[in-house]
Amino acid sequence: MQLILMGAPGAGKGTQAAKLVERYKIPQISTGDMFRAAVKEGTELGKAAKACMDEGKLVPDEVTIGIVRERLAKDDCKNGFILDGFPRTVEQADALAEILDEHGKKISCVLNINVPSEYLIERAVGRRICKKCGATYHIKFNPAKGEVCDTCGGELYQRADDNETTMKNRLAAYEASTRPLIDYYKSAGVYKEIDGTQSIEKVTEDLVNVLLSVKE
Ligand code: ADP
Ligand code: AMP
Repeated sequence: MQLILMGAPGAGKGTQAAKLVERYKIPQISTGDMFRAAVKEGTELGKAAKACMDEGKLVPDEVTIGIVRERLAKDDCKNGFILDGFPRTVEQADALAEILDEHGKKISCVLNINVPSEYLIERAVGRRICKKCGATYHIKFNPAKGEVCDTCGGELYQRADDNETTMKNRLAAYEASTRPLIDYYKSAGVYKEIDGTQSIEKVTEDLVNVLLSVKE
């Protein structure tokens, strides 16, 4: 299955991708995670991405499309994947269609986790991530049992861009560039919407139910 998890920043894409990875044994491909790894390693890509990320702006399409093209060519994507945070612009969506076409594949389903904007700043500002395994928590909605990660004991940190000011820019970028993809994928006949204001468990259940009717 070639899946796209769509939704505004903080909607729950990463949280749900982790559940779907476990269930369907296909990799999660998060462009945000890839950019953060590059920033940490101090690569040229990281340097280019950091300025945009710090401001809550989108990284330029040609850079983003390039890293996804490389990633989708890897062996572990042969049986499918879950794109998390890509595509975010119509140009990226067009490029994705081209890349998939080159691999003789197409999008199985676009799952939009729908969460109204009034929830999103609280979700992002309260997000905590494990430094070691990347597990996502929330100080109020999904807290770790103690100070460290429940599964691996890693240190929990707050993303630099998970503050109110940057979040406002990220939400503006979503409205301007990413929301138009809803109609784009509706026209392609692969669009499904899930109510992301429900509990994490219920959102997973709804996603899995939608996927029951999806053809590979
Ligand atoms: P995204 O990847 O879409 O930016 P995340 O999955 O990282 O979003 O979720 C953002 C924050 O909201 C995290 O702290 C996460 O624990 C929390 N969260 C995710 N899903 C829900 C939910 N259904 N209800 C409440 N909080 C949630
Ligand atoms: P995320 O982890 O998905 O919240 O993304 C964090 C940041 O990485 C975004 O605010 C952008 O600056 C950048 N980013 C991630 N994915 C993309 C994408 N598909 N296109 C452009 N920028 C992206």
